[in-house]
Amino acid sequence: MINPASRTNTIELSQIRKMFEATKPGAINLGIGEPDFDVPQNIKDAMKKSIDENDTHYSPNKGYIELREEIAKKFKKDNDIKTNSENIIVTVGASEALYASTQAFIEKGDEVLLPNPSFLLYEAVINLAGGDIIPVDCKMENEFKLKAEDVQEKITKNTKAIILNSPSNPTGAVMEKEDIKAIADLSMDKNFLIISDEIYEKIIYDKKHHSPAKYSDNVITINGFSKTYAMTGLRVGYLTANDEHTEEIFKIHQNSIACANSTAQRGAIEALTGPQDEVNKMVNEFKKRRNLIVKRLNEMGHETVNAEGAFYVFPKIEDENFVKKAADAGVVTVSGAAFGSNGKGHVRMSYANSYENIEKAMNILEERVTNG
Ligand code: PMP
Repeated sequence: MINPASRTNTIELSQIRKMFEATKPGAINLGIGEPDFDVPQNIKDAMKKSIDENDTHYSPNKGYIELREEIAKKFKKDNDIKTNSENIIVTVGASEALYASTQAFIEKGDEVLLPNPSFLLYEAVINLAGGDIIPVDCKMENEFKLKAEDVQEKITKNTKAIILNSPSNPTGAVMEKEDIKAIADLSMDKNFLIISDEIYEKIIYDKKHHSPAKYSDNVITINGFSKTYAMTGLRVGYLTANDEHTEEIFKIHQNSIACANSTAQRGAIEALTGPQDEVNKMVNEFKKRRNLIVKRLNEMGHETVNAEGAFYVFPKIEDENFVKKAADAGVVTVSGAAFGSNGKGHVRMSYANSYENIEKAMNILEERVTNG
């Protein structure tokens, strides 16, 4: 084998592989990280039309102008973020936005504050960029919400960035407005960047989402179509930042992926401009399932926070063999430890599965794993 570049040493595939290990036929999968809904019909139709009209060439590097204009409107309407189409880059999912942002701003010697636990990709993109990860605890006593005072304690002269993710994968926690504002103020005072991953923005129950970019100029706001419109495989995300920051990220984007998929971008325009009933239906359904899974887990004695967003719960389960026992009994879950040291003693369960299946899964866990 040819020697790989040393940066690949920072990536541990085995952890990720473990999470996707073969599911037994007939098992109920609560390990899923994507909505179990299909792409709404109006979005499918827009994509079919774009293919029939041969709208399948390269788009501008930053994405179709119509799409960027709609995204700018969305930012203003939903997030109170003032931006414009020039400062928006349409990316290959939020994943590419995270990669391009970290490549553009993080290098050796930079400290990046990272909520612990958090989504696996964050650690990987920081490592690939050569940055040092400084974990910030998200404590169960705070319902896993990241607190500004815990962030403040970790700031040093080398702090270059923090990654925020509200609503959170893996905990479902939705940060409080005052913490978001306080961290945004810190980013201005101490001159560091906030990379705010807001991909679960719309999957939120009885709570308002707040964007740090409303309060600070040092924010890269990342969002996408994967979760809100169940468009995971179509790979469209986007970001916005101020002029100078956007330009640096654009250098990475233009020279790595050229542009996002043109057909999927047409679908994304329809997603933003068309009816939103499917989104509302999906969120209502997720809420019913959240209520069910939280109730059942607590009744079983697995302390579970009534998570306010995303489609994950993060019960406290100290039995180290739980994930294996559950899998053997036919329920797939993910060990919380996969998301950082604070995830130890917890299990991530996704409720992106039908109400009936969640009910069945809870019965199995109750009868054959918890009391078995
Ligand atoms: N951020 C978070 C928190 C996620 O959970 C995911 C998907 N699991 C992503 C980003 C990636 O989303 P995309 O499909 O837009 O790349």
